[in-house]
Amino acid sequence: MIKIEALSKAFNRKFIVENLSLEVQRKEIVTLLGPNGSGKSTLLNMIAGLLCPDAGNIYIDNNMVFGANGTKKINLKPSERKIGYVFQTNSLFPHMKIQDNIAYGLKSLNLSKYEVKKRTNKLLEFVNLTEYALYYPNQLSGGQQQRAALARSLATEPKVILLDEPVSAVDPQLRETFRSELKKYLQTLETTTIYVTHNLNEAFMMADKIAVMGNRHIEQIGDKAEIFDKTQSTIVAKFLGINIFEGKAIKKQNNQILVETNNITLLSTSNLDLVGKNVTITIKPEDITLTAKKPADTNSTNNIPGIIVEMIQLRSATQVTIDAGFPIKAIITSTATKNLGATIGDKVYATCNPSEVNIFSEPVFNSRVS
Ligand code: ADP
Ligand code: MG
Repeated sequence: MIKIEALSKAFNRKFIVENLSLEVQRKEIVTLLGPNGSGKSTLLNMIAGLLCPDAGNIYIDNNMVFGANGTKKINLKPSERKIGYVFQTNSLFPHMKIQDNIAYGLKSLNLSKYEVKKRTNKLLEFVNLTEYALYYPNQLSGGQQQRAALARSLATEPKVILLDEPVSAVDPQLRETFRSELKKYLQTLETTTIYVTHNLNEAFMMADKIAVMGNRHIEQIGDKAEIFDKTQSTIVAKFLGINIFEGKAIKKQNNQILVETNNITLLSTSNLDLVGKNVTITIKPEDITLTAKKPADTNSTNNIPGIIVEMIQLRSATQVTIDAGFPIKAIITSTATKNLGATIGDKVYATCNPSEVNIFSEPVFNSRVS
C-alpha cells in the first residue's frame, strides 16, 4: 500500500507538486494520467526516495518512509523502501550484461546461485530477451532496454512498483501484448502499482483506478467509468477529451435539473443540489447521437441543432464536430456514420439523454483554466 499525505515540492520556488494526497491499496494498479510537465515523474521520484519533498508524509505498507513523526524526521534511503522502479529514461548499468543487470538486486537476497539463475531466466523470458542475456545495454534497442529495466525492477518481487511510462519505448506492434503480460505479472506478484502514462487507452487497459494529475495535485481519482461519467474537474474533462460547457443550473424539474449554457437549455439527472449555481457541464462524445431529422421526442431528451464542421475517421468510429453556435464533439460508430449519411456543411441534431449530462460546480481555487 502507498499512502501520500499533503506532499509538496518546489523547484526554484515554483511548486510542481502541492498538497498532494493519494492512496493506492495493496494489489491495486492505479494509472497516473496527466499532461507532460504535470509532475508525474517528480511524484514517483519522491515516493522512491530519489528526491526529497519539501513537506508531507509518505507511507509504504503502513510504515512512514518520509515525513515527520512527532519531532522525529524520517527519510528512508531508496534501498530501504523496497520499491521497484522503472524510470521514464533508461537506467540500466552500461557496464553490465543484460542478465547481470536483471540479477543485480537479487544478490542482496542471499539466494543460491541456482535460484538467481532460475529467476533471471524466467524474467528474461517474460520480457522476451532470452537471446540477449549476454549483450550489453548499448547493443539493444530502446524498447529492449526498457524491457530489461522492467525485468530488473521486478526481480526482487517488490511489493510496491512504480512504472513511469514503461511501454513508451516498446515497438507499437508489441505494446498490446506486452501490457497484458505485464498486467498479469503484476497481478501474480500482488503488487501495489502506480503506472504512469499519458495514453488513455493504456490507462484503461492497465488500471483498476485512474488518477488524473493537474493543478499540482491529484484532480480526481476513481474507477475507470467514474472518471469519465462523473467527471469533477475541467482539467480532467479536457485531458479525457470530453465536451465541456460553462453554464448555470436554473431549476429542478421532475427530478432533473435544467441547466442553461450558450443560450440553450439541457436536462441533467444529476442529483447534486446546484440550483442557482454556476456549473460546468460535461458530455462524453460517445454519448451523443446524431440524427439528420429532428427527433420526435424533444421533451425528455436533449437535442441541439448544428452544422457539421469536421469529420475525422478513427479506427472504428468517426469523430464529428458540429457547430451549434459553440462546438460539440460526437464520436459515432462507423455504422451510425453510414446511417446518418451526412457530410460537412449538413445540418444535424445532437441528441443525448439527461443521464449522460454530468454537471459539477468547481471550487473557486480551481480557477477555470483554458
Ligand atoms: P511529468 O513527468 O508529468 O512530465 P515532471 O515531473 O518530469 O513532469 O516535471 C514537472 C515539472 O518540474 C517540469 O516543469 C520540469 O521542468 C520540472 N522539474 C522536474 N525536475 C526538476 C529539477 N530537478 N529541477 C528543476 N525543475 C524540475
Ligand atoms: Mg515524466
